Amino acid sequence: MPKEAFVSDFIKRVSKDVKLPRRVRIFDTTLRDGDQTPGVSFTTDQKLLIARQLDRLGVDTIEAGTPVSSEGERKAAAAIAKAGLNAEICGLARPIKEDVDAALECGVDCVHVFISTSDLHLKHMLKMTREQVLQRAVEYVRYAKDHGVTVEFSAMDASRTDLGYLKQIYQATVEAGADRINVPDTVGVITPRGMNYLISQLKPIIKVPISVHCHDDLGLATANSLAAVEAGAEQVQVAVNGLGERAGNASLEEVVMALWALYGAKLNIRTKLIAETSDLVERLTGIPVPPNKAIVGENAFVHVSGIHAHGVLEFPGTYEPISPELVGHHRRLALGKLSGRHSVEKQLRSIGVKATKVQLAEITRRVKDLGDKGKRVTDVDLRAIAESVIGALPPEEKVVELKEVTVTTGITITPTASVRVAVRGEERVGSATGVGPVDAAITAIRNVMKEISALRLKEYHLDAITGGSDALAEVTVKLEDDQGNLYIAKGVREDVVIASVDAMINGVNRYFAGRK
Ligand code: MN
Repeated sequence: MPKEAFVSDFIKRVSKDVKLPRRVRIFDTTLRDGDQTPGVSFTTDQKLLIARQLDRLGVDTIEAGTPVSSEGERKAAAAIAKAGLNAEICGLARPIKEDVDAALECGVDCVHVFISTSDLHLKHMLKMTREQVLQRAVEYVRYAKDHGVTVEFSAMDASRTDLGYLKQIYQATVEAGADRINVPDTVGVITPRGMNYLISQLKPIIKVPISVHCHDDLGLATANSLAAVEAGAEQVQVAVNGLGERAGNASLEEVVMALWALYGAKLNIRTKLIAETSDLVERLTGIPVPPNKAIVGENAFVHVSGIHAHGVLEFPGTYEPISPELVGHHRRLALGKLSGRHSVEKQLRSIGVKATKVQLAEITRRVKDLGDKGKRVTDVDLRAIAESVIGALPPEEKVVELKEVTVTTGITITPTASVRVAVRGEERVGSATGVGPVDAAITAIRNVMKEISALRLKEYHLDAITGGSDALAEVTVKLEDDQGNLYIAKGVREDVVIASVDAMINGVNRYFAGRK
């Protein structure tokens, strides 16, 4: 077991039943099955960006797409194949000449040939006999192999295929030259024990590496992938953030970290890049990662209960099975009714406030009070509470002061904003255009303040405090620096644009205060 992970002794008791391979290959299908996520359709540029990131991350294979399906798919696969990446680049193909040729023409290193093998698919979809399917698979595995590429063969819907036939088609395709065989649980209907049995049945007769491809229809994709590895499977197909058809594929981050932390498996992955890879894919797909998602969710390393927070502050292993730094994430203590003095003190320190024992007790009491009223206590609230308990913070903490904002906007004109700010007393003027007045104003601030180029606007949230068009607008911004520190700030005004600018300036001041 890796010493950075704090795992259960029970794992050791069952380790004699685990036939862990020497090394587990990670085959990433974010750009192929992930591209089949409802609402996702990658452009060539987006695919190339993600492929480069996956290569930095260290995946063994990047499945770039299905070249035969469109001109764009072909261009993307060819561009990725030419990008000089370390990973093996793979293209998906049915056992049809046109499909295999399209993949070969892209210059991929590997052709992934697949065909359905379950009687269910044969009868209702392919209208082919088992013999016809087997013959077709063998023919095109050999055809691809004859062109000098690595060939992986998938028996689609393997988990619902007759075992005797499955063994037969895998053996035949291996004889025809397949370098790896993949076992897809195409609709996510196997159990961990079932998967373990299936792989154990194939292992003695298949002399090439065995791969699995699990879907999450019943939330078992990660468990089933691990069960396959326990039975000796040498490769797992995964997608970043668990993207893919329907409920998606086994998620890269979960499978990789479970293999690393719980099995001590050998992998090529640079785990520190997992969070930023997930962020990139989230940004480019627009598919949000749920806050409670394992490993990469916003809450994955947030501690709420005072007991937990206290434990983590004393020794992180008490409530963190792996450390957030290991995956490029960060630890946070959330304040509320369950918070204790330790977390409040730690959070105060992180926003640059020192309190005496008596003050700390009073601040903690007020934090719990707000929590009891159903409120999550943000850094802004904490600062406001601290200010009222300790006394106002010195005005010299305010590095940036907003002097003036002007915006013009309309249907036929480009939204434009000009701002005047004082940075440590020095006046600066700048302007910018944007997709809307808020965007223009925030860009204008960024333009006059190069010192905040590392700050990323992670979240922007607008609330109307009361109803009606004269309502007060409350804008909350969440800024993140390059160290992963978060700065949350609010602005409350009658005007949405000014409230946004205020929130941004408050966040920037918080950032500067934190850096002193
Ligand atoms: Mn799939």
